[in-house]
Amino acid sequence: MVVRRDSAVGEQDPGSGKKTVKTEKKVPAKKAAPAKKTAAASAAVAKKPPSGESRTALVRRARRINRELAEVYPYAHPELDFENPFQLLVATVLSAQTTDLRVNQTTPALFAKYPTPEDLSAANPEEVEEILRPCGFFRAKTRSVIGLSQGLVERFGGEVPGRLEDLVKLPGVGRKTAFVVLGNAFGRPGITVDTHFQRLVRRWQWTEETDPDKIEAAVGALFPKSDWTDLSHHVIWHGRRICHARKPACGACPIAPLCPAYGEGETDPEKAKKLLKYEKGGFPGQRLKPPQAYLDAGGTAAPPLGAA
Ligand code: SF4
Repeated sequence: MVVRRDSAVGEQDPGSGKKTVKTEKKVPAKKAAPAKKTAAASAAVAKKPPSGESRTALVRRARRINRELAEVYPYAHPELDFENPFQLLVATVLSAQTTDLRVNQTTPALFAKYPTPEDLSAANPEEVEEILRPCGFFRAKTRSVIGLSQGLVERFGGEVPGRLEDLVKLPGVGRKTAFVVLGNAFGRPGITVDTHFQRLVRRWQWTEETDPDKIEAAVGALFPKSDWTDLSHHVIWHGRRICHARKPACGACPIAPLCPAYGEGETDPEKAKKLLKYEKGGFPGQRLKPPQAYLDAGGTAAPPLGAA
C-alpha cells in the first residue's frame, strides 16, 4: 500500500525539479550531525554519481539512508495527535495547507465538543468554523469534516472503515488521506508522499518521477513493504528538521555522505546548525501528546494554542 499526503506548509521546493549531480563535492565536516548518528557525516561523500549507479547500488544506498535516518530519529512518529481512527481522519483532513502543530493545537477543542462522528455530523457549521479558524481554509475544512462525519454515520455505522475502497468514498477523503489513516491507525504498511517526501527522494535521486503516484511506486519498489510506514516517518522528519525546502542544513546533515544533493544548502557546520528546526534546533516537536519513546529520548511536547 502506498500513502500520499500533504502536510507542512509554506515550503516550496525551488530545487525540486533539478537533478544536481555535482562533479566535485565538498566533504562534510566531521562534527556536522546534531543527532545521535554522527559517524556517517565523517565518511567520504558518495564516490559514484548516482546518475550512473546501478539498480543494485541505488537500492543499497536508499536502504542505507533509511537505516541512518532510523538511528537519527528512532522515535519518529506521525506528528498529528490522535487517539482513534476518527480523530486521525479528521486531523489529516485539517492538516492540508497548514502545519501539524497548528492542527494539534486546534483539535483538542474540536474533539472535546464533538467526540464522535455522530456529534460532528450534527454540528452547527458556524460553531465548527470558529474552532477551525486557526487552521486556515476553515469554511471548506468545516464542510469536509462535517460531510465525512455524515458519511461515516450514514454508510459505516459511525465507524471509520479500515479499507481503502471504503475510505475514499467518504466526502473529502482522497487516497492520500485514506492511506495516512490506514498506515497509522490500522497498521497497514504505506508510503506517505507529502511535500517533504517528494522533495527529499528527488534530492537523493531515488527517482526522477514528479507525479506523486509514480513516486509512490518507484520508492516502494526500493524497499520491502514492511519498511514503508517507518521509511515515510524518517523521510518526513528529516525534511522537517534538517533537509528543508529553501535552505537544507547540509553542514549538519548525518546522511550527507550518501546524498547527491549535498551542497544545495548551507555547508558550514555552525551556520547549518542554526537552520535546524523542532527539537533538533532546541524546539519541541509538533505533538502536544507525543509518544513516550519521544519523551524518553528527550523530546518535548508542543505548546497548546495560545500558550506563551
Ligand atoms: S540536508 Fe543537504 S546533504 Fe542532507 S539530505 Fe538534504 S540536501 Fe542532502
